[in-house]
Amino acid sequence: MRTAIVTGGGRGIGAAISRRLASDGYRILLTYCNSSKPAEMVVDEIRDSGIDSVAVNCDVTDPREVALLATHPWVIAGVEVLVINHGRYDRVDAQELDFEHLRRTMSTNFEGAFLVWDTIKHSLTDDARICVIGSQLGTRGSPQGADYSASKAALAVWARSLAQSFGTSRKRINIVAPGFVDTDILAGDSAEKRAARIQEVPLKRIGTPDDIAGTVSFLVSEDSKYITGTVIHVNGGLYLP
Ligand code: NDP
Repeated sequence: MRTAIVTGGGRGIGAAISRRLASDGYRILLTYCNSSKPAEMVVDEIRDSGIDSVAVNCDVTDPREVALLATHPWVIAGVEVLVINHGRYDRVDAQELDFEHLRRTMSTNFEGAFLVWDTIKHSLTDDARICVIGSQLGTRGSPQGADYSASKAALAVWARSLAQSFGTSRKRINIVAPGFVDTDILAGDSAEKRAARIQEVPLKRIGTPDDIAGTVSFLVSEDSKYITGTVIHVNGGLYLP
């Protein structure tokens, strides 16, 4: 059976990606850091649909925990799809950002992605598809997220570099850059802030995790076999690069 790994696959956008790739026929190894309950619920739901799934506790900032991923039998057997989805966004004013905070964000969003890739790369099949969840802010920047925006920009350029390095192998890597998506990241919004966000989006709604999962499903499918190194913006027209 084909295997897909989804980091941070137990809640939010990652949970939608896990469910969607399971319905596409992949067994799902999803990772979580702190939220074991939601992760186990997603695994149970996928198993109930007849597809195998497992949740693995893995803090991507800890190289020892990431290294353990390589010992999982599904990883040893070969990985067709890797989705690097995990991420943190703490909203810190760019003027207030300190070095410790910058390091925390970079170590989760960027270095954590690198560690996962570096651990899994020898288990990827020749035609493996990798999807990285970036952000519109990785291109636009943000006064409340200089660290976050920089980490997402780094992710995108790193992924593009990898795409160019695959040579004759058929591996592909692409970046999905969401706009506003209804997850815990937006949960702290007041009603006014939410209404203002909706007004800002030409399609007049906040995106759903399924909007992102559908794009990931396309990018790991045969239908996108000539697409690599690309950033696909999924944002209802909020930001048009
Ligand atoms: P959530 O905050 O809902 O989920 C974040 C996920 O990342 C969780 O599964 C969490 O795991 C995991 N995670 C955080 N820190 C670590 C860590 N150190 N090690 C391993 N896993 C970790 O966010 P979303 O679902 O909204 O975001 C998913 C991705 O989409 C992120 O990369 C985010 O930056 C990006 N994105 C989201 C947007 C939005 O509007 N929602 C917009 C643009 C991009 P756990 O809960 O177990 O700790």
